[in-house]
Amino acid sequence: MMSDQAQKLRKKVNQNKLSAVIDDIKNIHDISEVYSNLVEESQSSASVIMFISAKGGTGKTYIASMFAHYLSEKKKKTAINITIDDAGSGNFAGGMIIAAYAEEITSYTSSVIQPDEYNDTTIEMQKKVFDAVDMLLSTYSDYDIESVFLCQSNLFDITTYQLIDRGYVVIRGRVEGELQNIIEDDFIKHLQSFGMPEYLKFYLKMIERDKNLGYRLLNNFCINFVKVDMPNRLKFCKSHNKLYEDLQKTAIDIEKTENKFMKKPKLCCECGRYVYDNILYKFTTVGFNSVFYGHCSCIDKITSVQK
Ligand SMILES: [Zn+2]
Repeated sequence: MMSDQAQKLRKKVNQNKLSAVIDDIKNIHDISEVYSNLVEESQSSASVIMFISAKGGTGKTYIASMFAHYLSEKKKKTAINITIDDAGSGNFAGGMIIAAYAEEITSYTSSVIQPDEYNDTTIEMQKKVFDAVDMLLSTYSDYDIESVFLCQSNLFDITTYQLIDRGYVVIRGRVEGELQNIIEDDFIKHLQSFGMPEYLKFYLKMIERDKNLGYRLLNNFCINFVKVDMPNRLKFCKSHNKLYEDLQKTAIDIEKTENKFMKKPKLCCECGRYVYDNILYKFTTVGFNSVFYGHCSCIDKITSVQK
């Protein structure tokens, strides 16, 4: 007959589906087997395991210490859920960032697909995206990846099938929250690595407020920044699109002119700031019917531009 106290404990343990421990352990050699049956196969999320006995001197302390040793040997991995997103695919300048974020361990890792690696076929790009995701996931091998949340963009279609094949739990949807801000910041830094101005980070605030508008304005700025020095800047743009082909065929006219836009100032295509000087450079894209402007001081510094 068990004591009242042991009965109460057994009842509690039963509620946690841990009675197997009590009944199955005949000797300490069973510990590994019992543990794997109980915690792994039953996928129990129990965080407390009790060893109880109605009698003293039955080896509770010894069993508990053996169990602790077994667990530490096994190095139970921390469970994480990974969210994966892309940034930059719609921007003419720069390539694309693929990034992974695990909130549980506040870990961010990213991979860059450079503009010259860009390809015009969707399938090829989906394969490149999968290679990037595969590389990012491999950096989390010390963790137990419970699920992978992939951005709903079709860029991740091949990745979805590949990850499901490998036994991952895959969720598709719209990525929101912390990862969004970090990956956009990462993309701006990627653009700056090509010599784009510090002022570019101003667009991050706009993107935060209105994503579509922010990216449209960023893209407009990037296009003019490229146009002003095409021989040196077209190479950091995605090349398989109509704009790239059109720009290769066009010429840019340049003239110094009076600034008539003091009330509605124009952005400088080089530094991104408003132009308030009395004289500015006006650029006309031949055949495009589009004009853009620049500070004289900024444009004069670009030696490859013939004034
Ligand atoms: Zn400027």
